[in-house]
Amino acid sequence: DVFYRELPKVELHAHLNGSVSSQTIEKLIVRKPHLNIEHSMTAIGKGQRRTLDECFQVFKVIHQLVDTEEDILMVATDVIKEFAADGVKYLELRSTPREEKNTGLSKKGYVETIIKAIQQCKNEGEDIDVRFLVAIDRRNGTEVAMETVKLAEEFMLSSGGLVVGLDLSGDPTVGHGKDLLPALQRAKNCGLKLSLHLSELEESDLLLNLPPDRIGHGTFLHPEVGGSQSLVDKVVKNNIPLELCLTSNVKGQTVPSYSKHHFEYWYQLGHPSVICTDDKGVFCTDLSKEYQLAASTFGLSREAVWKLSQQAIDCIFAPDTVKQQLRQKWVDLQPQQQ
Ligand code: 5GP
Repeated sequence: DVFYRELPKVELHAHLNGSVSSQTIEKLIVRKPHLNIEHSMTAIGKGQRRTLDECFQVFKVIHQLVDTEEDILMVATDVIKEFAADGVKYLELRSTPREEKNTGLSKKGYVETIIKAIQQCKNEGEDIDVRFLVAIDRRNGTEVAMETVKLAEEFMLSSGGLVVGLDLSGDPTVGHGKDLLPALQRAKNCGLKLSLHLSELEESDLLLNLPPDRIGHGTFLHPEVGGSQSLVDKVVKNNIPLELCLTSNVKGQTVPSYSKHHFEYWYQLGHPSVICTDDKGVFCTDLSKEYQLAASTFGLSREAVWKLSQQAIDCIFAPDTVKQQLRQKWVDLQPQQQ
């Protein structure tokens, strides 16, 4: 539907290597035929479901395909251009810096290459403001988490505002939030914004006390699904926006169906809820489709959808001047009769 494509949108929850389109995967497969990787191993198609654990296996396959600076540059520029073509005006991309001994890729080089891709797209005149969140993969433990925070701090100061924050993601069944608190607290103290995957499965409320600046998924926060009113109260009191990814949660089987997605709970509360893709490549979706799905599943009018995309501006990590620019853009693009 052209309305959803033309709707100006803000994307706040997109993992770089989960966002790689099938066209880009094709180019990577051609570069690395010896890996014997097929498309079916890198995406979860329509009607297919996997456990969250199986989804993490898919990322491993993609990581094999993306292991040089050259790959990262291509993947990042392709992903940015695809979001721009889908009507995304502001994008916060997140990715876990990886070191690859075989190709000489360093974590620093990893982040530098993504920043280069962002700058290249800007120079080419793409109509999209892109920022970067450095991701901590919780599987890698506390020491790596602290190193990652230091790397993010360095880039926050040197990237001219492109690195705005930190993401905590990775397999939620591995490790304890508590062990990551020192690293996350340090990040917060030095001015990095925090977007944490929280209550994707069950999770203590320790990390909520930081508090984070945004929450990824938050699937099991509310009492109907085994969370609690006190968790909800904390989220509401601190006004912590949620990043909600419908297709990802249904395909990853953390929610049973679209109509049972917790978007409805939070939307009805009037709590800031931002529709996001999570991994548009792996889950075969894009942000227009996600807005359309939310609208058709929960009966949102076009006016309500417009408002939803507009309110996402309040939740971005870039400074107020950027919010003002985006708000003006939404005014300029608003259809006359609504
Ligand atoms: P990358 O950080 O390599 O650019 O993107 C892939 C990584 O993002 C995965 O290895 C995983 O750490 C993280 N990720 C992607 N989707 C999800 C998700 O739905 N839940 C969690 N917890 N992590 C995810």
